[in-house]
Amino acid sequence: MKFNFITLFPNLVTPYFSDSILGRAQTSGLIEINCINPRDFTQNKHKKVDEYMIGGGAGLLMSAQPLCDAIDSIGQTHVIYLTPAGKKFNQNDAKRLAKLENISFICGRYEGIDERVIESRVNEVFCIGDFILTGGELAAMSLCDAISRNIAGVLGNANSLDIESFENGILEAPSFTKPNIFNGSPVPSAFLKGNHSIINALKNHMALCKTRFFRPDLYQTLKSPNFKEKR
Ligand code: SAM
Repeated sequence: MKFNFITLFPNLVTPYFSDSILGRAQTSGLIEINCINPRDFTQNKHKKVDEYMIGGGAGLLMSAQPLCDAIDSIGQTHVIYLTPAGKKFNQNDAKRLAKLENISFICGRYEGIDERVIESRVNEVFCIGDFILTGGELAAMSLCDAISRNIAGVLGNANSLDIESFENGILEAPSFTKPNIFNGSPVPSAFLKGNHSIINALKNHMALCKTRFFRPDLYQTLKSPNFKEKR
């Protein structure tokens, strides 16, 4: 899968993908990270990529021409604009997008981008939460990370995807590691006895309790008649 980041700040993006799991995925050719700077495409003689808003308004906008030309230079790709106005990104989106071959993220800066770029070039718009970031790079990197770990071969142990939060509409059960007692607090005793059907039943129960406590919105959908259990 090739990911293109259309960004004025490529140095914010490349280091993140050069280390750890995604660094290895790049080295082994499972993913490719490509940064494209709209400044390289501007026709403005002063290399400007931003303008004041027509009709007034505080701040600057990224201009349409450098962005559209940068996108067009990529060829066949699925274009995503990161914006607070977008649909909230979720795990189902990550899995769906992991099946594509080429994705481009437009990372907005200033007060965003000229709306005509969205109308003419963008396939999907996503938000990563109800807050405002300085720019779209962090949001785009979050999507790229979440999509990448759903590409076959990227995770060392693909089974770990099956039990993760959101997989079955619930959060992952609480997890413990050694020592068995930490600061006087023991792990649940059933976890130490090796009976996996009891451990799984307990984990399922704990996952439901955790979901009900931390994400009552998810818990409500579990109870909806439209919810289909997968495991
Ligand atoms: N004026 C814009 C508004 O009120 O919607 C916010 C612009 S923000 C300062 C600059 C850029 O950061 C946006 O164009 C977008 O690409 C990105 N951004 C900020 N918050 C975001 C969020 N919650 N999700 C996705 N992208 C975000």
